[in-house]
Amino acid sequence: MTERIYLDWNASAPMRGQVIDAVALAMASHGNPSSVHGDGRRARAAVEDAREAVAALVGANPANVIFTSGGTEANNQALAGHPNHTVLASGIEHVSILEVAANTPRIACLPNGEIDLDQFSDLLGRGTGGRLVAVMLANNETGVIQPVTEIAALARDAGALFHCDTVQAAGRMAVDIGLIGADSISLSAHKIGGPKGVGALIFNGTAPQPLLRGGGQERSRRAGTENVAGIVGFGVAARLAANWRDEMNSVEVLRDELEQRLAAAAPEVVIYGRDARRLANTSLVGLPDIDAGTQLMALDLAGISVSAGSACSSGKVASSHVLAAMGVGSAAANNAIRVSLGPETLAEDVNRFVASWARLRDGARAPAAA
Ligand code: PLP
Repeated sequence: MTERIYLDWNASAPMRGQVIDAVALAMASHGNPSSVHGDGRRARAAVEDAREAVAALVGANPANVIFTSGGTEANNQALAGHPNHTVLASGIEHVSILEVAANTPRIACLPNGEIDLDQFSDLLGRGTGGRLVAVMLANNETGVIQPVTEIAALARDAGALFHCDTVQAAGRMAVDIGLIGADSISLSAHKIGGPKGVGALIFNGTAPQPLLRGGGQERSRRAGTENVAGIVGFGVAARLAANWRDEMNSVEVLRDELEQRLAAAAPEVVIYGRDARRLANTSLVGLPDIDAGTQLMALDLAGISVSAGSACSSGKVASSHVLAAMGVGSAAANNAIRVSLGPETLAEDVNRFVASWARLRDGARAPAAA
């Protein structure tokens, strides 16, 4: 049987071998990091070592890293942890931001997938009272990189806090909380080759209030016994992710080749966000007249895993709110699939994807047999 091809790294990156080894070892040891005996102290040391690794990946102070159950919880706490602040979120944020910031004004997006800085300035100028701006560093569907340093400066000048979701950017480009100028950022281990169900909220300045209460863990910023094995794996993945520059160079060559070959096979193809600065590994591909669900199924049968837009929660193919925010109509948006590569992607994987995709496209366009 031919091996499956995994081109869905933005949904979840495969766990790295060294991470699996470290997690297995951590699972075999039993101390609670809050216990004062030797076993507890060993678990505590492992958690603190991981905290340093995660902090180093994003240029942060380890004391300002709050381990969470993932990117979703980190985003929830970043927003809800500043009560009495109105959240101004962009329309292309992950749902873990959008659903906390329901019924507040949205920051608009340009057709190329970048935040509309003019509209953002207007919006900031109109509001009063405590405000918190939420704009991600790189979008999970298009890969488009946002002008976050400008956004941070505008927010600061207006007296607003700035949270930046860096979940999808980490391990694929440079992330530095100080250079961004953010008050907080969020990370998720499983996007960088770590385990699922662990992430971090990292702040600069005032700590967001806790969501989980009832224990003094994480300096009383997140109650509950730490997920020691997950955190250890996150730390190893963070150390390995520091190598992103070398890895992404070759990933970008493959991604660009993939896009060129899709365009050669099907001149009608649309690559969303292609004119903007993008992550090296992401391609959101529209194929007119063939809905994403049909494409996903055909590719799955051919042994290839890709996503439709952002459908990362319930397994169902939902229309993309990101493409809607970019002004793409629902018919076109429903024909878009996301292909996301990683350091283990091979030229052969790209060849097989392009061949299967072109076959699917040609088959759908062929006149029905008499
Ligand atoms: N933020 C972004 C940009 C994401 O892509 C995701 C996951 O897809 C999340 C947050 C949520 O992270 P987690 O899966 O760790 O809850």
